[in-house]
Amino acid sequence: MTDEALLEMSGITIEFGKRIGKSDPFVALEDFNLRIEADKPEIIAVAGESGSGKTTLGRVALGLLKPDRGNVRFQEKDIWQEGLVRQKAFRQAVQAIFQDPFSVFNPFYPVEHLMRVPLARFGIETDSSRQIALIEEALAKVGLRPEQIVGRYPHQLSGGQRQRIVVARALMLRPKFIVADEPVSMIDASLRANVLENLRALRDQFGITIIYITHDLATARQVSDRLYVLYRGRAVETGPADRLIGDPQHPYTQLLMSSVPRPDPDAPWPGEAPQEELDVVGRDRDRCVFIDRCPRRMEICNRKPPHFDVGGAEVACHLYAPTRP
Ligand code: SF4
Repeated sequence: MTDEALLEMSGITIEFGKRIGKSDPFVALEDFNLRIEADKPEIIAVAGESGSGKTTLGRVALGLLKPDRGNVRFQEKDIWQEGLVRQKAFRQAVQAIFQDPFSVFNPFYPVEHLMRVPLARFGIETDSSRQIALIEEALAKVGLRPEQIVGRYPHQLSGGQRQRIVVARALMLRPKFIVADEPVSMIDASLRANVLENLRALRDQFGITIIYITHDLATARQVSDRLYVLYRGRAVETGPADRLIGDPQHPYTQLLMSSVPRPDPDAPWPGEAPQEELDVVGRDRDRCVFIDRCPRRMEICNRKPPHFDVGGAEVACHLYAPTRP
């Protein structure tokens, strides 16, 4: 065991609009920290609703978006300062699986074209028949039958097959980690289990770490080891996935988990702010970002909560201050 980090994101802040001089930029991600150990492949789920910053986080990890503040280090090297983002080795080591398995295919080429291109680009294999052998091997690894895939056109395959081809393509490049951004949200529920199983196999059989971005805690629970819950660009609760989903502490995580249908339609929706209004004062980012929706808010919540350790999880909420104000 080494204690080298494969990827370390520290203090990552992204403010859209700042670079064009807007005085009130939109904070997509704020002071975000994540460390992935080099010798401990895992699935790390990043969950939150749209606008939470989870896709921005994936783009930062892939080196597609440069943070306004903070560092991204890959194998102990700063990917921006040391120019890794422009190097083939880094581009090969970090792969992406995006939400829409349809968008990456060119309808005019048979589907294996999508896999041949990176093999040639990264210099893995240029011989056409050996490329096909590698492609068939990768397709088989994700449970597809190559004879049913090679030579077909995108419109002849299901969404689930296409998404598994994208997984096979990523696998073929032997990456160190993969960012999978909502990989199952656009495919049939019946096929989701296959793709999630493929993600698990990437971790268990091939030692690849996956950052699994999702709005769906049910699938996060199925596959992930660690969970980060984001709300408006801040990590509000982080820790082991079982712990967070089985016993959520932050009022926002509790809200996400409260998917049980309500028998009484007049009962307040979990997470609705209480009737008595609290004066919300100060600048938006100086206070708890969940204050407007939180049913348990207090005066102190007008101040930004630090992260408190709560039984192995980190929770950004004043409710967990060792001595409550
Ligand atoms: Fe609610 Fe306050 Fe905790 Fe924010 S800090 S989640 S407003 S109790």
